[in-house]
Amino acid sequence: MVTVSKDHPRYNSLILRDKLVDGCKKGITNFHGLIAHGRGEAFDYLIGESSTTNALAATEVASAYMLTAQRPILSVNGNVAALVPAELVELSEMIGAPLEINLYHRSRQRIEKIEQHLRDFGARRILTGRDYVRLPEIASERAKVDERGILLSDVVFVPLEDGDRSEALKKSGKTVLAVDLNPLSRTALAASVTVVDELTRTMGNVIEFTKRMQNAEDKEVLEVLKSKFDNVQNLKTSYSIILSRLQNLSESDGPLNIT
Ligand code: ATP
Ligand code: MG
Repeated sequence: MVTVSKDHPRYNSLILRDKLVDGCKKGITNFHGLIAHGRGEAFDYLIGESSTTNALAATEVASAYMLTAQRPILSVNGNVAALVPAELVELSEMIGAPLEINLYHRSRQRIEKIEQHLRDFGARRILTGRDYVRLPEIASERAKVDERGILLSDVVFVPLEDGDRSEALKKSGKTVLAVDLNPLSRTALAASVTVVDELTRTMGNVIEFTKRMQNAEDKEVLEVLKSKFDNVQNLKTSYSIILSRLQNLSESDGPLNIT
């Protein structure tokens, strides 16, 4: 691990990069995951590197879906496993959802390493796609889902998912909850709820909301949250957030301050 001073302006970003590089060294994260992370970082710059009110509202709706699901499931890939293993385990226990290891660049060896990594963080229910079926309309290894997991689920939390798979999951009738810093990606457009925010920030927020709403006496509140949500409007608001941020910067007087 590289030692980074907390005063460094990119402290958080450097810590996340370090976790992913470490994930690559351990064989749980694929090199392509580093590139995907870089694309996310670029959008985080545009958003302002903090959770917007709009993202918090979508996160709350995602939590409401997970709390009211019949068979929720959390999908884990190599970046997700490297960035938020402890948070995944905590959420999995809170809502009674198994973790399904679902890789874009799939290999038996990497699945086993991720499984062990999650167990080291206390995970108890892990599905690995050993018994799998293929989602229609997708070629290659990416089509595989565990027949006891994602296949049977009604609500799938798929942080950092690929566009093809998100679209296929949605078409198969599932509620797809995505986390993606890029509000223009196919995943963002295909999901039922798109949280346009950075994954580590989102996981903290999801856990906080889920804890608070778990005890909500009135389950009706969760249903209202779900029914009032409009993902197209959520994405449009994400575009306006970026637009007005750049507009304000481009019109500002004096020295530029982007923080
Ligand atoms: P799509 O397949 O949905 O069109 P893509 O091909 O551009 O998107 P992928 O490589 O399939 O992207 O998936 C990576 C996505 O995850 C990117 O859109 C990126 O913005 C996002 N991303 C990467 N790291 C993070 C992170 N830490 N938090 C939130 N989003 C992230
Ligand atoms: Mg993609």
